[in-house]
Amino acid sequence: MQVKTKADGHQAAESIAVRMLGWYDRHARILPWRVSPADRRQGVKPDPYRVWLSEVMLQQTTVAAVSGYFLDFLQRWPNVEALAAAPSEEVMGAWAGLGYYARARNLHACAKAVASEHGGVFPSTAEGLKRLPGIGDYTSAAIAAIAFDEPAAVVDGNIERVTSRLFAIETPLPQSRPLIRARVEAMTPRLRPGDFAQSMMDLGATICTPRRPACVICPVQPSCEAQGKGIAERLPAKAPKRAKPSRRGAAFVAVRRCDGAVFLRRRPALGMLGDMAEPPTSGWSAKADGATGADAAPFPAAWKEAGTVAHGFTHFDLTLEVWRAELDAAPKGTDGWWSPPERLLTEALPTLMRRAIETALVSKS
Ligand code: SF4
Repeated sequence: MQVKTKADGHQAAESIAVRMLGWYDRHARILPWRVSPADRRQGVKPDPYRVWLSEVMLQQTTVAAVSGYFLDFLQRWPNVEALAAAPSEEVMGAWAGLGYYARARNLHACAKAVASEHGGVFPSTAEGLKRLPGIGDYTSAAIAAIAFDEPAAVVDGNIERVTSRLFAIETPLPQSRPLIRARVEAMTPRLRPGDFAQSMMDLGATICTPRRPACVICPVQPSCEAQGKGIAERLPAKAPKRAKPSRRGAAFVAVRRCDGAVFLRRRPALGMLGDMAEPPTSGWSAKADGATGADAAPFPAAWKEAGTVAHGFTHFDLTLEVWRAELDAAPKGTDGWWSPPERLLTEALPTLMRRAIETALVSKS
């Protein structure tokens, strides 16, 4: 029986890095925030602002969903000082639809911190970046590696999958995370660590996909233990998921009779969908149902049931009853504003609330 030594492991990690970088040089995806390997060879350096913006946007979201938002943000706010100086409602409005709205609040807070406390220059180490609002272990490592070539171990969902397979790690997630991190640390080269991280992300997105990985064209197939054992598609193993609780609540869409404007209010800054706009809703949360039925409305009107909308949050599923009423004037004693049809598109409405409004408006016809 052959015994693997530490030196064997070191060699394997090194050969994976070499193969991955060679593959990346030929097949890197073209992404709006990325400096291509060819440009990097010519001395072009990534802009930390772009790297940071893209990494925050990409948390929990796909490349396809992010690209348009990224370009729109860059056009509105080409640098961190411009973003820091923007009004909060404008930033939230530009983010609307991307989900996980705490990220947008943190993004803005981070831009302000970089502008006011760091003279508009991002710290260049993972350690320094981690002290900024909204930047955790993953994002700090990704920015430090990609923008500043610090050999930080970058571990996102794609890299978790690729690494679990390369080393046939059969311990389920999340318990396997420390081991995966150790493997990524060992593989990360001192030269071009940012390109290495991006090559692993690309491999996970295009070849080592969750289902049916294309092992025959994979650049690291000769080193892949899971492929050798025929268990690639089963990895990473995951602990069984707990069933998500279901919550209920109600949304009340008041429409102004004369022009079709919709009555909106701003949600409290802290908590779910904080600072975003909404038609008034009952007080649902991750922990408790909100009230339902017309009696739960925050002001009296001739409410008519318009349907329901469902939305899956990370820790619970929410179903909102949608109620609709027509009004001539703003409800007394309720803070909010009328948003005419042409302005609705630019309001900072999360997707769930936008769908509630659409359900109410369609129900009329
Ligand atoms: Fe993934 Fe297959 Fe490549 Fe292994 S050989 S890293 S399982 S694509």
